[in-house]
Amino acid sequence: METLIKEAVKLIKKSDYTTAFTGAGISVESGIPPFRGEKGLWNKYDPQVLDIHYFYSNPKESWTVIKEIFYDFFDEAKPNFAHIGLAKLEKQEKLKAIITQNIDNLHQEAGSKIVHEFHGNSKQLICTSCKFKAHASTVNLNKAPVLCPECNHLLKPDFIFFGEGIPSHAYQNSIEAAQKSKVMLVIGTTGEVMPACHMPVVAKQSEAIIIEINPEKSKFTSSITDIFLQGKASEIMKEIINNL
Ligand code: NAD
Repeated sequence: METLIKEAVKLIKKSDYTTAFTGAGISVESGIPPFRGEKGLWNKYDPQVLDIHYFYSNPKESWTVIKEIFYDFFDEAKPNFAHIGLAKLEKQEKLKAIITQNIDNLHQEAGSKIVHEFHGNSKQLICTSCKFKAHASTVNLNKAPVLCPECNHLLKPDFIFFGEGIPSHAYQNSIEAAQKSKVMLVIGTTGEVMPACHMPVVAKQSEAIIIEINPEKSKFTSSITDIFLQGKASEIMKEIINNL
C-alpha cells in the first residue's frame, strides 16, 4: 500500500489538472449511510418515495420519509477528513474541481469551492410551481407535505429524484472537468448510477490516470482504474496529504 500511495502522490504532484469524482462512500465516515449494500438506506426505506411521479401522487407519504432521511438524519453529519483533505488540495491548487454524486453539502462545508453537484443539493428546496427557492433551515418541515411559503404549492428538495434529468449546468461543467483531467481521484462510489458513472470514463478516454479509493472493488476497479487504493476514504486521504 505504501508504494501505491507514493505512486499516487507522484502522479498528483506532476498533474496540472486533478479532479475528484465522489460518491456516497466519502460521507459514510460522517455517519451518512450509502443507498446500497448491507447497511444501505434502501434496506430500511422504500426508494419509490424518491420517484418523481410517486412524489407528486403521494406528497405526504414521500415528504414524511424525505424529512426523516435528509433533514432529521443527514443534518447531523459533519465533513470528515476525506472532505477536508480535498478542500486542502484545492486550496493548495492541487485540485481543480470536485464532481460529486452526493447531495449532502459536505464538500462545501469542508471548504471546497468548485463543486459540480451532479444530483443537486438537499439543503435547498424549490417550489414545484413558482420555482421559489429556500434554504431548508428556513422552512417548517414538520408538517407533511411541505408547502411553498410564497404560493402554497408543493415544495421539493432541490436534488434529482428518480425519473428526473441531470441539471444541465452541472452536467456541462462535469463533462468539461472530466475531459480536462490528467488525474482523477474516484472516491467511494460503486459506479452503478447512470449517467454520473460515465464521468470517470470520460476522464479515462481523455487519457487521465484514474486513482480509486474504496474499501471494496467497484465497477471501475477492473476496467478503468490505474491505481486502486483499497481502504476508507479518510484514512487514505490522510496518507496522501501527509506524503504530498
Ligand atoms: P453507492 O451507495 O452505490 O456505493 C457506496 C460506495 O462507497 C461503495 O462502493 C462502498 O464500497 C464505498 N464505501 C463505503 N464506505 C466507504 C468509506 N469509508 N470510504 C470510501 N468508500 C466507502 O454510492 P454511489 O455510487 O455514490 O451511488 C449512490 C447514489 O445515491 C448517488 O447517486 C448519490 O446521489 C446518492 N446518495 C448520496 C448520499 C450522500 O449525499 N451522502 C448518500 C446516499 C446516496
